[in-house]
Amino acid sequence: MASILDKITNAGKGVSDMSKSASDTSNLKKKIAYEQERIQEVMTEIGKQYYANPKGDYSALCADIDDRKRRIASMKADLHALKGLRVCGKCGMKFDDKYQFGFCGNCGNKLADLDLD
Ligand SMILES: [Zn+2]
Repeated sequence: MASILDKITNAGKGVSDMSKSASDTSNLKKKIAYEQERIQEVMTEIGKQYYANPKGDYSALCADIDDRKRRIASMKADLHALKGLRVCGKCGMKFDDKYQFGFCGNCGNKLADLDLD
């Protein structure tokens, strides 16, 4: 339903994300946590309504969950794009997304992946 709109908004995303700083990572995580909370609330609401009326129409509520899940998936993709900005906790060396190793190239300290889930 909203897939065409989604594609349009997603199309311009990659470019603007390039200039985003690592502080957006925590921002995105907050937004994802918010959407996940809302999904739980809608799930609870569906449960309540179903209990009251098992033959009711819950497609709008389900579509709301689907929308939020899509948003979460999109934000997680953004997080993965930002994931490249890793900083060594020991020496402070910064690594971009082209650096694929799990250890700091400067001091050998293990680089922690950003917590994405
Ligand atoms: Zn290091």
